[in-house]
Amino acid sequence: MITASPLSAQPLDWRAQFRDAITSPRELLAELDLTHLAERVPADAAGFPLRVPRAFVARMRRGDAADPLLRQVLPLDEEARPVRGFDLDAVGDLTALDARGVLHKYEGRALLIATGSCAVHCRYCFRRHFPYGEETAAANGWRDAVAWLKQAQDIDEVLLSGGDPFSLSTAKLTELTQELASIPHLRRLRIHTRLPVVLPARVDRELLGWLAALPWPVVIVIHANHAQELDQDVAAACSALLARGARLYNQAVLLRGVNDTPQALAALSERLFALGVQPYYLHQLDRVAGAAHFEVPDSEALKIHEALRARLPGYLLPRLVREVEGAPAKLPVSA
Ligand SMILES: *Cc1c(COP(=O)(O)O)cnc(C)c1O
Ligand code: SF4
Repeated sequence: MITASPLSAQPLDWRAQFRDAITSPRELLAELDLTHLAERVPADAAGFPLRVPRAFVARMRRGDAADPLLRQVLPLDEEARPVRGFDLDAVGDLTALDARGVLHKYEGRALLIATGSCAVHCRYCFRRHFPYGEETAAANGWRDAVAWLKQAQDIDEVLLSGGDPFSLSTAKLTELTQELASIPHLRRLRIHTRLPVVLPARVDRELLGWLAALPWPVVIVIHANHAQELDQDVAAACSALLARGARLYNQAVLLRGVNDTPQALAALSERLFALGVQPYYLHQLDRVAGAAHFEVPDSEALKIHEALRARLPGYLLPRLVREVEGAPAKLPVSA
């Protein structure tokens, strides 16, 4: 049990914290003593409004317009600038949709869009333009998704993604995994979530109970881009997940102005190690409309990655990859 952990000292439960996220750029900037930045923030953030939990804001540095956490969530005028090659469906998700809410791109693995909802809105997110209204597996009580998985006998790993699957209630997650348990060929469950990082209170007793009772080995891929995101509460959440038998990995996105130096990435890997999380992927940005100002060109990305390779033990080096439409896997970035 985690009765003595800092998790139980959270003032609000995770749902209240989720609802209580900051959604007003003005409020966020006032909170950070950065009101002068307001003129760079668009009045309408193109259907993808600001959203950030207060627990994440608490890790931002006040008065620092270049704070790497702030940059990930603050809508800027640059997003509205059209850039050639940056499109609405950057990775071909719309064409890869097999059944309602199921993405099947790679052998043996199927990704379930469990929900469209996220606790945080990351400005670089490739799913910012996804029509989640119709296309989540939850749409009719998981029925279509589970029926598809049942007949797809070569699928042995289901990935819960979204959106963020941990933004579903634990009751909903239980409903889903009970359905999945009726599929004999599943061997592993993987969960892609940013909630243990941006809203660690989500890792509560109820969620841990659900996790411990699952019939498969569970892999949880969290998503942190900078060491500064990983405070004591995140550490406590990771340690609770590990104690329930989950294996923890991290994926990051290489982002201009956030983590585009070997120093920042080495610090991230070292901090992940301290939390018991294995660095997994460092993604090249998906070329999605509105995210061009985050791009680091491949030539520079490779240099940064080479410097990182020279600096870190091999097991702390994330794989530098990119998603290419139609490719059989995430592809290594090459010169
Ligand atoms: C990224 C991704 C996966 C997982 O790929 P791994 O290389 O196994 O991490 C699976 N399905 C889809 C649709 C994906 O986009
Ligand atoms: S949490 Fe993940 S899916 Fe949600 S906005 Fe951020 S990157 Fe996108």
